[in-house]
Amino acid sequence: MRCTECDGAGLVRCPECSGEGIDYGIHKCEECAGEGEFACHTCDGTGKVGLIEKVKSRL
Ligand SMILES: [Zn+2]
Ligand SMILES: [Zn+2]
Repeated sequence: MRCTECDGAGLVRCPECSGEGIDYGIHKCEECAGEGEFACHTCDGTGKVGLIEKVKSRL
């Protein structure tokens, strides 16, 4: 499914797809604002989080 936020352009700063261009449940990490900080536990430094990881981080 193409990302509706950036219309599939895959913008790196796109909060919905985090540069993937396709919205398949991977979103920009909110803990480090998608910067992918090395010490960020939420995204493991990737700047992206899947839905499962997102749910886990709330537990
Ligand atoms: Zn997008
Ligand atoms: Zn992060």
